[in-house]
Amino acid sequence: MIQLLKFLRPYTNTVVAVLALLFFQSLGELYLPTLMADIVDKGIVNGDTRYIISIGGLMLLVAALGTSCSIGAAFLSSKTATAFSRDLRGKVFSRVESYSLHEFDKIGTASLITRTTNDINQVQQVMIMGLRMMVSAPMMCIGGIIMAVSKDAKLSLIFVVVIPVLAVLIFSVARKGLPLFKVMQGKLDKLNLVLRENLIGIRVVRAFNRIDHEKKRFNDANRDLTDNAIRVNKIMAAIMPMMMLVMNFTTIAIIWFGSIRIDNGNMQVGDMMAFIQYAMQIMFSLIMVSMMFVMIPRASASAIRINEVLDMVPEIEDADEIKEGNDKKGYVAFEHVTFYYPGAEQPALQDITFQAGPGEVTAIIGGTGSGKSTLINLITRFYDVNDGSIRVDDVDVREISQESLRAKIGLIPQKAVLFTGTIAENIRYGKENASDEEIRHAAETAQAMDFIATMKDGFESVLAQGGKNVSGGQKQRLAIARALIRKPEIYIFDDSFSALDFKTDAKLRAALKRETKDATVLIVAQRVSTVMDADRIIVLDEGEIVGMGKHRELLNTCKVYREIVTSQLSEEEIA
Ligand code: ADP
Ligand code: MG
Repeated sequence: MIQLLKFLRPYTNTVVAVLALLFFQSLGELYLPTLMADIVDKGIVNGDTRYIISIGGLMLLVAALGTSCSIGAAFLSSKTATAFSRDLRGKVFSRVESYSLHEFDKIGTASLITRTTNDINQVQQVMIMGLRMMVSAPMMCIGGIIMAVSKDAKLSLIFVVVIPVLAVLIFSVARKGLPLFKVMQGKLDKLNLVLRENLIGIRVVRAFNRIDHEKKRFNDANRDLTDNAIRVNKIMAAIMPMMMLVMNFTTIAIIWFGSIRIDNGNMQVGDMMAFIQYAMQIMFSLIMVSMMFVMIPRASASAIRINEVLDMVPEIEDADEIKEGNDKKGYVAFEHVTFYYPGAEQPALQDITFQAGPGEVTAIIGGTGSGKSTLINLITRFYDVNDGSIRVDDVDVREISQESLRAKIGLIPQKAVLFTGTIAENIRYGKENASDEEIRHAAETAQAMDFIATMKDGFESVLAQGGKNVSGGQKQRLAIARALIRKPEIYIFDDSFSALDFKTDAKLRAALKRETKDATVLIVAQRVSTVMDADRIIVLDEGEIVGMGKHRELLNTCKVYREIVTSQLSEEEIA
């Protein structure tokens, strides 16, 4: 919580203004009962109407000033707190953008969303409360006690009894309620997780008739959260009536003992009335403080979760000393690379060594789960190797900045991801300042023109969220166009042709060959026809290279490759 306060620093001036306004408001409130006592004891008792009117006018004035201070403070504190949470959200977002895939795996997407929204809201609410109470509560409490004692010291002994009672009550309630608040954020994460999975997987849920099952799963998470919230609120709801009870008994006690003292001539009626009001102010301030004590732990549970996001150091960071690039272009070399996914016992890749250079096509083939995508993710440094090294343009990828490394690479991921926006915008994602001509050319090479031309608005057609309104193969071709437009040194196709029909696949590869003749091309594929004429075919099996060479050589030397080939091609095609 304290850590987060640094985000208030830009608003120091406003905070000071809020505190000052509240200071004056509290002063006014402390002054009013004394004025009232004067009216009763000096004005009414003596029947002095002019005195009553003038003091009454003063009271009105003080009350009006106090109210405007209070309004000003409320306005400014809300403004500060919302600005605070805006800054914090921005900070969390940009932090998350710098994460490597490890950190995403650790916290989880659903939790990241809750932390950026709900958790920050919790902190914001406490911030508003805290700003308003930080000055008023202690002032009203201490000021109230001073004023009460000055009215009648003996009667003030009542507080010696009441305040400890109040403290014990608040403490016992808070002890029961606080642990539940912490549990609540976790349950909210769970609810978000279920909801997110369902929204993303809605087609699967429907196709497998799992709607009832999912409804139940959601209801369970929902009920769990609700039960917890109700429990917490029940406990917290007990505070208010208990406080009221204590306050009313206090009033009775004051009137009881006060009237005895008035009877004996030790106290005046107006002073007793003022005394009651001071007692109320003291106790209300204690209640406010206790509410704060309830809210702070809840918000600090949230603050801890936010800080976790802010403090998590991305495992993959640029080296302190970044090596400048050289004039080599398009060289990729793996040297005895071994890689484990975090927590995995078996390496996903083991002792991988190969080189690829400009003008060459390197194909990677292997069964599902053999580590093809993993290998590619290492080149773009989404993960760091455990052993060995990967060199791009003869520099270790850990020594180049991530930005310049990725600028060299045009990646077409296995699962094409598009963003909400027009087709042109999506292709331009690869190169910000691309001209219309470049966009058209990239789309032509990627064989995307035929379907873009049939769309009503052509390049200006709007894609729905995640590209839902185009087919898998069309998405794939747009993703290819997005990579082509960068004209990178290294093209990486991760199984990008699998969603295409054979005819488009062949046309696309012919067009790509012209486009990428000077670049380094890495193609991951399932189909033998896609990889057959590559300069180098790497056969992966369970994370290891079991064969490397041209199609002809591998047919004779590599058993795994032969198996893949015979399962896909007929005898004549092989010969
Ligand atoms: P391919 O692309 O060849 O089908 P992958 O490279 O995706 O295979 O996966 C290789 C192996 O690594 C698989 O056994 C898979 O279970 C594991 N794996 C892939 N991604 C992760 C991940 N994020 N965390 C842990 N294990 C993973
Ligand atoms: Mg894969």
